[in-house]
Amino acid sequence: MTGESLLKRALTVMPGGVSSPVRAFGAVEGDPPFLASGSGPRVTDAEGASYVDLVGSWGPLILGHAHPVVVEAVEKAVRAGMTFGATCEAEVDLAERILSAFPCGEKVRFVNSGTEAVMSAIRLARGATGRSGIVKFEGCYHGHSDALLVKGGSGLATFGTPSSSGVPKEVTGSTFVAPLDDEDSFDQIMDEKGDDIAVVVIEPLPANAGLLIQREEFLAHLRERCTEKGSLLLFDEVITGFRVARGGMTERTGVTPDLVTLGKVIGGGMPVGAYLGPSDLMDHVAPLGPVYQAGTLSGNPVAMAAGVATLDELDRPETYEDLEKAGSSLAAGWEQALTDHAVPGSVARLGSVLWLYLAEGPLPRAFHLIHDDAAQAYARLHRELLNQGTWMAPSAFEVAFLSLAHGQEEINAAIDSLSQALAAVNTQEGR
Ligand code: PLP
Repeated sequence: MTGESLLKRALTVMPGGVSSPVRAFGAVEGDPPFLASGSGPRVTDAEGASYVDLVGSWGPLILGHAHPVVVEAVEKAVRAGMTFGATCEAEVDLAERILSAFPCGEKVRFVNSGTEAVMSAIRLARGATGRSGIVKFEGCYHGHSDALLVKGGSGLATFGTPSSSGVPKEVTGSTFVAPLDDEDSFDQIMDEKGDDIAVVVIEPLPANAGLLIQREEFLAHLRERCTEKGSLLLFDEVITGFRVARGGMTERTGVTPDLVTLGKVIGGGMPVGAYLGPSDLMDHVAPLGPVYQAGTLSGNPVAMAAGVATLDELDRPETYEDLEKAGSSLAAGWEQALTDHAVPGSVARLGSVLWLYLAEGPLPRAFHLIHDDAAQAYARLHRELLNQGTWMAPSAFEVAFLSLAHGQEEINAAIDSLSQALAAVNTQEGR
């Protein structure tokens, strides 16, 4: 069946033809191709066109598509029974691996998505502190739970709807939003409300409104003020955990949060989320404590097996060096392409996470500093990138992810794609 007819069917039976809004092509030109398969660094669409994949299912696929070791682990687990609703060995294995990478945690609870992880960690923070306030940062996305759908990134940034309809004011009434990279604004909230703030939640590497790399001093400042006010600090490492280092930004910055949320990479492509912290906090969660949180499929053996296989593959000394080299090579090539075609822009990068920012001026560190031109320029470029064989997210606000399966050949192809795509847009616009 062709992509066109699949799209027609999807649009008839699913809102926007998608199960998650960021997959729709509302912010870029043309219709979405239907993907049929993936192998290593590439995906293939329903018509048989092959692309270098820089989406990686929005972050989980750090080993690339259908990695043989992960596939084998999943097949074995499926044959042994897909779910029991009882604790399984792979669950304990994955918990041990996660906690060894995040020594700030002593216990971890598995859930089925990043959204659930952050929602549950917030409930835990509120239950443990007896306070209700939350501080979050503009442009950070923490999933779609009601209390956090305020000035968020990801689809909220893409579609220009900073907060969602359907969320009563009472639910977000205790959510306070601060700009990133701004100690003074944060201090003002903490000075006024700090005694009622249960938790300050941040993506320590904000990667849902472009890539807004924060100063380490800013993160250290949050730590200091949280400790002073008795508020908990939650690092949402759903993207960064095991992606930028085994221990994510917690390891890279040396700033220690009270709670960490994980997702994406730890599920190896299966739906997994997790939250962790010291025992005295985590033991507030049911069945030991009064903070209720549960899940029929949480910790199921198939998802856990995919996670364990993935983390074991990552557990080689050269993993993060290789990802760094790949990221740096792609960023340098993209920047050169922008220069060669005289297109304003630059590339923000940390490890294997990259953001192509198509506007003049320095790379922004706060959401309000992202230039309006960037989204328009990307909307035009995206279709040409697809035409040139590179699969990129259909939004100027989403980052690109590399995997260990991306070799120099794919990186060169992605650089060449950008170069050709920029040339095509320049020609269309008569430059
Ligand atoms: N937190 C962060 C930092 C994310 O990037 C995301 C999703 O992209 C989430 C939470 C929500 O995760 P999920 O989409 O698995 O619910």
